[in-house]
Amino acid sequence: MHLIDKIYINGRFVTPQGHDMFDLHNPASGEVIGQVRLGNESDADAAIAAAKAAFPAFSQTSKKQRQEMLRQLHDVVVDCEEELLAAVVEEYGGPVGVMSQWMAMAANNFTAMAEALEDYQFVRPVKSATVVMTPIGVVGAIIPWNSNSGFITNKLATAIAAGCTTVIKPSEMSALQTDILARALHKAGLPDGVLNIVNGRGDVVGEHMSRHRDIAKISFTGSTAVGKRILRNSAESMKRVTLELGGKSPTVILDDANLAETMPIAIAAGFMNSGQACIAGTRILVPAHMMKQAEAAAIDAINTVVVDQPGNPKSQLGPLVSQTQYDRVQGYIAKGIAEGATLLTGGLGHPAGLGGYFVRPTLFGDVTNDMTIAREEIFGPVLCLIAYDSEEDAIAIANDTDYGLQACVFSGNDARARTVADRIDAGRVLINGLFHEPQAPFGGFKQSGLGREFGVFGLETHLEAKAIHARP
Ligand code: NAP
Ligand code: MG
Repeated sequence: MHLIDKIYINGRFVTPQGHDMFDLHNPASGEVIGQVRLGNESDADAAIAAAKAAFPAFSQTSKKQRQEMLRQLHDVVVDCEEELLAAVVEEYGGPVGVMSQWMAMAANNFTAMAEALEDYQFVRPVKSATVVMTPIGVVGAIIPWNSNSGFITNKLATAIAAGCTTVIKPSEMSALQTDILARALHKAGLPDGVLNIVNGRGDVVGEHMSRHRDIAKISFTGSTAVGKRILRNSAESMKRVTLELGGKSPTVILDDANLAETMPIAIAAGFMNSGQACIAGTRILVPAHMMKQAEAAAIDAINTVVVDQPGNPKSQLGPLVSQTQYDRVQGYIAKGIAEGATLLTGGLGHPAGLGGYFVRPTLFGDVTNDMTIAREEIFGPVLCLIAYDSEEDAIAIANDTDYGLQACVFSGNDARARTVADRIDAGRVLINGLFHEPQAPFGGFKQSGLGREFGVFGLETHLEAKAIHARP
């Protein structure tokens, strides 16, 4: 049994003032594997005070000093990758083969930010004025459970690059991973108070942070419902916010695409992170006249996906994170059936031979874009095939959503795909493949969020532009 009973404040591991304990589960079996002691509002206050005290000196550090810190942070995270990977498998149910690649991305978030700083001008002339890009203050980072170390490292890297100090509230469901990461980050030797990590409930610690006067900015990744709440709470102290929220991303397959080649990629985009990805391509749009072939190709692709214990290196799809998420996803599958979609593969219950929070990879056909399963974020391996008549119709369906985080376009002709990509309202559009560029902006249109993360775009959301005017 694991016991996580420390949080990280002002450069030290301390016992939280909060007393509540939260059970940690192994999602592959449902078994309890440990407990975490949760912080409360007083713990958040102590962390915020430490970050506030550290800010004046930290905000004065040079770009070179902060680049050096980012490289240190990279190295200490690389050193804990193996331990972290074991925790991701045990506590999150992430398939070990898939997650080993994600671990490398976590460490690389620090070097990517060091690179973004390289050519960045914090002080620059603008006609008769001088513009100084000034660190915003204490940043509160609120992290979901679906990529604990990826989100913590990216938000921390951005804050450090900008010269901001941080208080991080991870999900309590990721306590093992957070503890390993915190102990690694500690070894980077950041000045006390620059990094603080408080485990605790969202409606206690997260809520307190989003209302606190001494936090200048909240950087949040999670559900749209909580994102809206944070935005409202932030208004009182006029906090800046970056919100990275949900999605219902379209994958548009054009009529000149090779189905046998594209469908496995479309399915992989939908089942990313066992379906627990904000960017998951969950609405697959196919020309009506190609639908029969598309259904067959999609079923074939799903049949080759290995759904197994996360410790099996061949496994591509693990369990969902919690009983709550399992129940939620079962509810959506039932809703899809009730609303008249055709279950092409998968369905209710567990995959054969697997228990815990495993869900059957599920594909619905005959889906119309007004059905609940086509409108709401399911956050599990449940995909929809939607027919369209013309390219114009495809673009209209792709954009007929409250979300706008990501889209994929597949075509035999890259230039044609590009003209469709230009008309899709999404923060990121991928053409004929799955890509990630860490210097490019990431974030959502519409209710998928507010602001952008990564590279200079992320950096500038942590800076205030100050114009200095002086006599010539
Ligand atoms: P969530 O409630 O939005 O949780 C994300 C983070 O926000 C967690 O650290 C959570 O803490 C915290 N939080 C919760 N209530 C808060 C509040 N009032 N003020 C400040 N912070 C608060 O997400 P969830 O409940 O874990 O998952 C529900 C759904 O959200 C998923 O099914 C999915 O649709 C979506 N989701 C999206 C992403 C994404 O990457 N865009 C990630 C995760 C979830 P607690 O853990 O203590 O609640
Ligand atoms: Mg929640």
